[in-house]
Amino acid sequence: MHDQSSFIRSRLHRFRQEYLPAALYRERTPLRLTRWDVPDEPVPFAEAVVAEFVPFVAGAGAESHWGSPWGTTWFHVTGTLPEGWSERADSRVEALVDLGFNAAGPGFQAEATAYDADGRIIKGIEPLNAWVPRHGITPDGRTVDFYVEAAANPYVPENGWFIPTPLGSKATAGRAPLYELRSLDLVLLDVPVWELTQDVQVLAGYLDELPADSPRVAGIEAALDRMLDAVDPRDLASTAPAGRKALEAALASPAVASAHQVVATGHAHIDSAWLWPTRETVRKCARTFSNVLDLMEEDADLVFACSSAQQLEWIRLTYPELFERIRTRAVEGRFVPVGGMWVESDTNLPGGEALARQLVEGKLFFLEHFGIDTSEVWLPDSFGYSAALPQLVRASGSTYFLTQKISWNDTNRMPHHTFHWEGIDGTRVFTHFPPVDTYTSDLSARDLRRAERQFREKGRTNISLVPFGWGDGGGGPTREMLAAAHRQADLEGAPRVTLGSPRQFFERAEADYPSPPVWSGELYLEYHRGTYTSQARTKRGNRRSEHLLREAELWATLAAVRAGRDYPYDELQRLWRVVLLNQFHDILPGSSISWVHEEAERDYAEVESAVETIIDESLKAVLEEGDSQIITNAGPYDIAGVPALGGTTGTSARSSATVTSDGRGAVLAGDALRVRVDARGELTSVLDLLADREVLPAGTTANRLQLFEDIPNQWDAWDVNDHYRRNEIELRSDATVTIEDDAVVVTRSISESTVRQRISLSPDGRAVEVDLTIDWHERQRLLKVAVPVDVLAERATSEIQFGHVHRPIHQNTSWDAARFETCAHRWVHVGETGYGVAVANDATYGHDIQRIVTADGVATQVRLSLLRAPQFPDPDADTGRHRMRYSIRPGSSVPDAVAEGYRMNLPLRRVTGARAPEPVLTVDEPAIVVEAVKLAADRSGDVVVRLYEAYGSRATGTLRAGFGLADAVETDLLEREVERRAVREVTGENVRLQLRPFELVTIRLRGC
Ligand SMILES: [Zn+2]
Repeated sequence: MHDQSSFIRSRLHRFRQEYLPAALYRERTPLRLTRWDVPDEPVPFAEAVVAEFVPFVAGAGAESHWGSPWGTTWFHVTGTLPEGWSERADSRVEALVDLGFNAAGPGFQAEATAYDADGRIIKGIEPLNAWVPRHGITPDGRTVDFYVEAAANPYVPENGWFIPTPLGSKATAGRAPLYELRSLDLVLLDVPVWELTQDVQVLAGYLDELPADSPRVAGIEAALDRMLDAVDPRDLASTAPAGRKALEAALASPAVASAHQVVATGHAHIDSAWLWPTRETVRKCARTFSNVLDLMEEDADLVFACSSAQQLEWIRLTYPELFERIRTRAVEGRFVPVGGMWVESDTNLPGGEALARQLVEGKLFFLEHFGIDTSEVWLPDSFGYSAALPQLVRASGSTYFLTQKISWNDTNRMPHHTFHWEGIDGTRVFTHFPPVDTYTSDLSARDLRRAERQFREKGRTNISLVPFGWGDGGGGPTREMLAAAHRQADLEGAPRVTLGSPRQFFERAEADYPSPPVWSGELYLEYHRGTYTSQARTKRGNRRSEHLLREAELWATLAAVRAGRDYPYDELQRLWRVVLLNQFHDILPGSSISWVHEEAERDYAEVESAVETIIDESLKAVLEEGDSQIITNAGPYDIAGVPALGGTTGTSARSSATVTSDGRGAVLAGDALRVRVDARGELTSVLDLLADREVLPAGTTANRLQLFEDIPNQWDAWDVNDHYRRNEIELRSDATVTIEDDAVVVTRSISESTVRQRISLSPDGRAVEVDLTIDWHERQRLLKVAVPVDVLAERATSEIQFGHVHRPIHQNTSWDAARFETCAHRWVHVGETGYGVAVANDATYGHDIQRIVTADGVATQVRLSLLRAPQFPDPDADTGRHRMRYSIRPGSSVPDAVAEGYRMNLPLRRVTGARAPEPVLTVDEPAIVVEAVKLAADRSGDVVVRLYEAYGSRATGTLRAGFGLADAVETDLLEREVERRAVREVTGENVRLQLRPFELVTIRLRGC
């Protein structure tokens, strides 16, 4: 046979470009329009429809322009259904809108919400999904009357993904209209032509995905050729059915026995903020969810997974009618809450209790409003996954975990797609990385074949999940994607596609693969390493808020138990939810537009002020009126004689250090340390007097500020590339050194910025503390502070949530080398047998810890990443004032580092009152750390305490309640009773505990 392949493909190409789309609508007629531009921020329907609308015409060039950046324009759309358009089986009446769509794709540009005349949301309008169904637009079947709320969202990366843009803030984006409303028409969709389009789309997709010399490809080509013969391109309205007939056999040919199995879950990744502010996300959710509900009317098989409680809460508060429709579909098991988190949070940066609350708030919301106990944690897009997560997933009552982001690794490929993920405490969670490598699949042949090709468990199991639907900026599934799903349910050459929920997938996958391989420890993302540092004020706000909330809950609990004060349940929940929202995976990591980060900083200021009020009022109730000086300690360890979780009367001991100037610098000296500071503020010697040991390697200095060129290859806010290390900028050394009280104060300019450092010894004299105030005016630069330590360490220990991880600091393998920037929470520790040093901080997360060669041999250098200055998507990221503290604690063990981390983040508080607070509870074993004390969410008055083993050891100890104790039960994170594991015995006020390494325990204490 002669080879006809290329001729058939060319013929098909022209047909698909020219004739198929042109025949999609049998008729088309413009509708009458009036418009109203919202003066500023979006308004509800009721407010919009009574505004003064003015005549408007679509498709008339400049006359049809609308929408300055971030503006909203309402269109009132009216008309009459033309005679003869009455519904037939082979055609559908719809409205079709072109807002002036560009090539940016759904969710990244203009989008709109269609409302019927009564204000009920009909559907979202977005590129590639821009139709509005008849039922919403013609209340009586004859007259057309509906509204379109159009959002002029700009395409922020219009000039590229690393070019500074003014579009990320209303203040700088300008007023010029961004879009032209090209058309808003009533159309008559030709159903057979649409169906033929879907047939062709699916079959043609396999021409490039299957081996070119396979019989299947030849068969598809021949079928498409017959289809082209069967139709009249000039009269598809009459001949499309014949064309479909010609493709029937090719579409009916069943999948092979070994075909990969795909559970396709409808989804819309909706970033809670990113290249748009949260207020726009509220509307994105409404558009997306109404799209989904509309599709569900058409297709009984669609299952949609919705992952953020926060987004449904926005809908509940803003669009209650839509929320009720969602609930109806949720009851049917089709609109499926998943994820169990308040938002799809980052998991590197949030503290332990915050990550627990993400799960608590998320799961409680889904239980309260949907009666659904979610079973899977769903984080497709966060930038790496903490080794604390498996235990937290389990402790929340969930069993499964899903992400795909690790496929973005820039160096190493993960060996598994379906596996048991083991956390620091040994807890294992059944985990899946969809091998399709996207959370926005369109169910094309390309995506499905990629999933099949890449799946690494082949031969042992053969099932994967494919999340489909437009995403990042929302959108969700379309009818075209569903058409593709159905055509590929059992199709030769394709994976077998079933529409289903994540839980259905996980249950099938686990049954099919009961003993999967194990990945132990963190899922480090070899990418986006700058997100530990970018937008430092957002990060400090998060850290500070987490610790303030701990304090507020502790003192409010004490006030409730001791003084009968009302516990501020609602206010604390509200404040926690603000903090949780800002842990979203583009806010806390620092990768959003300036609008978002300005809002986050305002949020944190509001949280601080509200939490301080709770703390203040709670302490007043506990301490009563009086004028004694009282110091309180909300931390889990005694600090300078102030007991943990309690307080003492008197003034706290200041450090007994002496400070003397030696002409060019200064010397700080106490009983344990003698520290020499030079004229630039660098430490030239840190002498550990107790160990009789110089901490710094020969020829090095500590507290050394280093400035680097930081121009990532792409993704400014997200990435640090390792070439920064070879591009250090020499700093001028002009500085002033003064002595203030017991501290050395160094003020220094570096490049365009100034740094003020207050260097002192801690109250116990065991740590050097540096308090930095930085006025930062750099562009694309990275500021680090280096602390070289004369120890031969093989690994660094870094605090994560509820424990710590060890990471090698050599670069033997590509995995070690790729980990050149890492995330740690309050402390890192490096050491050799018998001696170690802790470096703690109260604001930063990015670190690099590596070997250095000195005159005496190999030593270890700890560096904290203090500030960056990325220019995209926020051109002014990090500009301005910053405050951060860190400490160097020589002679530290890991337990010392744990205590130092709390001390730096929970400073003592000085108040006045009648008497010092007696702790609401105490724990006599330092390895067992109290992370949270609060009253139970069920408002029973029970005290809930969350504890964990912090050293990586077995720990036995006694928790002693500071009130009459009737009983103590173990619970999950949601405070639901579970089988006892750690609680061994309850006698009187004493609860005997036994914890495994890093074990997390929640205990509900019932008072009597
Ligand atoms: Zn995302």
